[in-house]
Amino acid sequence: MRFGLRMNIVGILYKNPVNPDSENIDHMNKRDLNQLKKRLEKELADLAAGKDCNLEGLDYSEGESPDLIDRAASVIDRSLSQNFCDRKNLRIHKVEQALEDLKDGLYGICQSCGDDIAIKRLKANPVARQCISCKTEMETRQRLINS
Ligand SMILES: [Zn+2]
Repeated sequence: MRFGLRMNIVGILYKNPVNPDSENIDHMNKRDLNQLKKRLEKELADLAAGKDCNLEGLDYSEGESPDLIDRAASVIDRSLSQNFCDRKNLRIHKVEQALEDLKDGLYGICQSCGDDIAIKRLKANPVARQCISCKTEMETRQRLINS
């Protein structure tokens, strides 16, 4: 699956020679790239330091509290923590993915259209895997689905 996707990207890249006027990964200097890499590595280290989301403290056994409100509160507590863990794990996944892209030379390439992602966007969001136009389009579509 992932291999297929990469082949796809390579195909897109060959079909669309880089526009020399646009600010793109080729013009991203090594210093920028290194800075982004350092930021990603640091974030991953920070996240990994607290990677184990421990829900044990919140693991009330069923019927422990006879009070219905107490039990309801513990269920909410648990789902909030679960939510936090899910978001954190998702972030770890994204950062790892970005670092893998850096290693593979795919960093800064839009996963949707194969265009280069603007350096400004990467500096604002180092884990971005879509260019701004694809991202905007996706968000507009999602808003339409959700509305
Ligand atoms: Zn795109």
